[in-house]
Amino acid sequence: MNRTGFTLIELMVVVVIIGILSSIAIPKFASIKERANEAACRCNLRSLGSAEALYYAQHNMFTDVGNLSASGAMGNAHLLECPSAGIRYVAILEDNTYRIDCPNVDPYHGSIDDGLTSW
Ligand SMILES: [Zn+2]
Repeated sequence: MNRTGFTLIELMVVVVIIGILSSIAIPKFASIKERANEAACRCNLRSLGSAEALYYAQHNMFTDVGNLSASGAMGNAHLLECPSAGIRYVAILEDNTYRIDCPNVDPYHGSIDDGLTSW
């Protein structure tokens, strides 16, 4: 008996194995992507905090994100956005303090408050 090719059962076994592997891998990739977005968002918040410190050293006051760009403390500050949501950061100024939150609600990545991070 000289047969070539695959039987239907063999093909079905291969399809089932590929399905099982996909069901394991796809949620893992989604989790890794969100963790990368979280790290990028926190990096943006730290950069904005550093720019606020630089602005404070020059002007003895904190400022909003748009003015960080205009003053030259951080040229692209007004363009930074949370990678998960695509929403730009806003500084909340109060007396002589500042707070910059991740604008994304779910998942929330944290905030920087007078140079202190919340994560
Ligand atoms: Zn964020």
